Formats: sequence, structure tokens, C-alpha cells
Amino acid sequence: MQKDIFIGDVQSGGHDGQRIELKGWVNRARGSNKIWFIVLRDSTGRIQCVAKREDIGDESFEALKGALIETSVVISGTVNVDERSEGGHELIIDSATIIGPVNPDNPFPITESAMANADGGETEFLLDNRHLYLRTARMTHMLKIRSSVFGAIHNYFRDRDFTEYQAPNFVAGAVEGGSTLFEVPYFGRKAYLTQSWQLYAEAAMPALERLYTIAPSFRAEKSRTRRHLTEFWHAEMEIAWAGNDDVMVHGEGVVRHIARTLLDERSDELESLGRDLDLVANYADNPYPRMRYDEAVETLQGMGVKIEWGQDLDYSKEKVLTQDFDVPHFLTHYPRIAKPFYHRPDPDDPKYVLCHDLLAPEGYGEIIGGGERTWSEQEILERIEEEGTPREPYEFYIDVRKYGGVPHGGFGLGVDRVCSWLAGAEHIREVIPFPRDSRRVTP
Ligand code: ATP
Ligand code: MG
Repeated sequence: MQKDIFIGDVQSGGHDGQRIELKGWVNRARGSNKIWFIVLRDSTGRIQCVAKREDIGDESFEALKGALIETSVVISGTVNVDERSEGGHELIIDSATIIGPVNPDNPFPITESAMANADGGETEFLLDNRHLYLRTARMTHMLKIRSSVFGAIHNYFRDRDFTEYQAPNFVAGAVEGGSTLFEVPYFGRKAYLTQSWQLYAEAAMPALERLYTIAPSFRAEKSRTRRHLTEFWHAEMEIAWAGNDDVMVHGEGVVRHIARTLLDERSDELESLGRDLDLVANYADNPYPRMRYDEAVETLQGMGVKIEWGQDLDYSKEKVLTQDFDVPHFLTHYPRIAKPFYHRPDPDDPKYVLCHDLLAPEGYGEIIGGGERTWSEQEILERIEEEGTPREPYEFYIDVRKYGGVPHGGFGLGVDRVCSWLAGAEHIREVIPFPRDSRRVTP
């Protein structure tokens, strides 16, 4: 039953004039009592297939005519080059077999009008039917783009001798603050779902020196924005003998590599989604400027945005700041009071920490958060104390610093956010197969 020929290959001209067998799903159908047109789709594309009653006989013709949208079929026929058809080819059917029929009492619910009314695919109806919505061209393109983004991240790090490393998902302590921790009952105790791989990666830093992961992180985000999920995919890296600047070089490197990979592998999908490829090329080809937090605050104040020194930048502020950026910008040196204990204070001015966020343009905002870690035992104890964080869950983290601490740092990149920004999606939900937010864990 294995499939030999994909529609994409036929549309690229690989089978002109040949008699072939195609396996796929009915995407559209129309015709008369004598001639029937089916647009067949598979994972690689669509092709028009034409059946004439006189060629295939009454029984097959009636079966095809009764095949509703999303019926699975095996169709044999001859490939014709035809400029007028979508993709430049059509298949003249000589036989067809229905594999998985669709009951007329229960037709495929995702219709073009349902999607047109759905305002970018976000309505509850499409989310309720996400398992079926995945088959639409829009979602198929998104999922392929997503796959290329994952591949690009792995390639970037592996090509630079980083080791892929896994951390536990059940943890005892927070990385990003208690308010977004998911608590899970754990045999009479409390555990949490991890918000980040970082603390456990730092433990392996003296062993591996350059390490990375792509794994889910969990955050109980109450504020629903177009860039927050409760379960998201997090690409994180940690590198020994490195400071904030060295880490930023990799952040810029990986994002530019992702943009370049999408142009190489997924231009067709991006264009079908209406994405301007010149913008993506800009993100691949040009360097990313760096700006200090203080300058960003002044810029925002100059734009009339209400912000005080010491506040972290939330989505509403990043949106204003990045509206006119032509490429992503790093924001560095946030105030110490705005960042958790593991950020290393700047020895030149300890009011600040050696950290960075990478903010994507077009009003998108943060896609990376990273920096240099507090790496000496004495400094980490001071930071934990000043923050009032309980020590117990972090004993292992402190311990790592007792034996040969070295300067090191890393970052976390939101993979879904990068997909969403580069694909030009309206909402982060559009780029993950089954999005999770505060209101939805189904389907
Ligand atoms: P934000 O301020 O937007 O909530 P954050 O400062 O909490 O982000 P970090 O803790 O620095 O984010 O996490 C590293 C990266 O992980 C972020 O830059 C972002 O790309 C991604 N990320 C964080 N939270 C989410 C989320 N809820 N959904 C999707 N991606 C996220
Ligand atoms: Mg957050």
C-alpha cells in the first residue's frame, strides 16, 4: 500500500505523459453527468483530476461523483500538461477506488466559508475542530514552516559542536517567577511543570561546555496575548567561558539561520500565506543592533508611552518600540530589580544585569531572553537573599557553583513565537498543531 508518487512531483513535471497512480483526499469536486472534476490533495499539493463517464464506466463514475470533500481515494490516470490547470498539470482518470468514504449526513465541517468567517482561523469553531482544521492548506503550510524552523535550530547548534541535552519536566523550583508555575500533585508533595531547561543545563555546563535543547516549557499565563501559550516549545542553549555578548552572537546567529533556512526550504509556503519574502531576507541578511534598556525607556517615553525606569517591558510596550524596527534588536542591561536572581549584576554598574532580550520587528516583540549567569557561589547567595527566594529548591544550583564556577550564559528562544513572527501569523495559536491556553486543553 506504500505510496510512490506525490502530487508535488507531478506538478514539478516529473511524470508528464505517464500513466500513474495517485493517493490522496478529495479537496473539491464539481461537474455534470458526463464529466467530473476532482481536485485531489495530498501532503505536497493539489492537482485537478478529470473523469469522463464514457472512459471509466457508470459504476466508477457514480462512485467518484458521490465522493464528498475529504474522501480518501486512489486514482489512476495519465498526466497531461495543461497550462490552464492549477499547477500546470491535470490527470485524466481511467480508474478510481474509494478508500475512506465520508458520510453525506456528516460532511467535512471545515468549509471555505467557515474559514472566511473565522478571521485568521481563530474562532472557537475552528479551534474546536482543530483535529480537522490541520488538513487545510493554511495549517499544512504552517506545520511545514514549523518543521523547518525546528530543523534549522538543530542544525545551527549541531554544526557548532553543541551537545543536545535533556532536563526534567517535573521540577521543584521556579525559573521565571512563581506566578506562572503549574503545580502538579506529586505523591503527596507538590511539584511543578518546568518553565525552562536552564537551571538543569547549568549543572551540565561544566561537563559539556556547549549544550542546547528544544523542549516544551509550561507557564500558567493568565494574560492572553497573541504571543503567549501555556505550553510552548523552547529552544535553549548554555555555553561555558562566555559572557553576555558571546551569547548574543549565537542568538543572532540562530535567528538569522532560521530565516535563511525558511527562504531556502519554504518560500512557496511563505508566499502562499501572503508573507513578504523581502522582509524575511532582511532578517536573514542584516546584523541585529544592540540597545541598552535605558535607551529603550527614553525612546518609549519620547513616544509618549507611560513607563518608569525599573519596570520590565511587557507586550504593549514592546509592540510600540518594535513597530518601526527593520530587523530584530537586542535590548541589554535591564535593571537588576527587574530580573531574577540568576542574572549576573554588571561589575561596571551593579544597578544593571548582564542580560538581553531579542525583540522582533513589526510590533512582534520578545523572541529571546538570555544573558550571563551569576556564576560565583558568593554572588548567587547574595542574589537569592536579596530576592527573598527560598534556598531549598535551589541547593543543587548553588552547589554547582562551589566547584570550579566559570563565566557562562545562555538564552531561551520561543520556537512558536519565531514561527509566528516569520510566517506573519496573526496569533501564536496559528503555528502550533494543538494550542494550549488558559481556556483550552481540547482537542
Ligand atoms: P514574556 O515577557 O513575553 O512573557 P518572558 O520574559 O516571560 O516573555 P523568558 O522567560 O525570557 O520570556 O523566556 C524565553 C523565551 O521563551 C521568550 O523570549 C519567548 O520567546 C518564549 N516564551 C516565554 N513565555 C512564553 C509563552 N507563554 N508562550 C510562548 N513563548 C514563550
Ligand atoms: Mg512571561
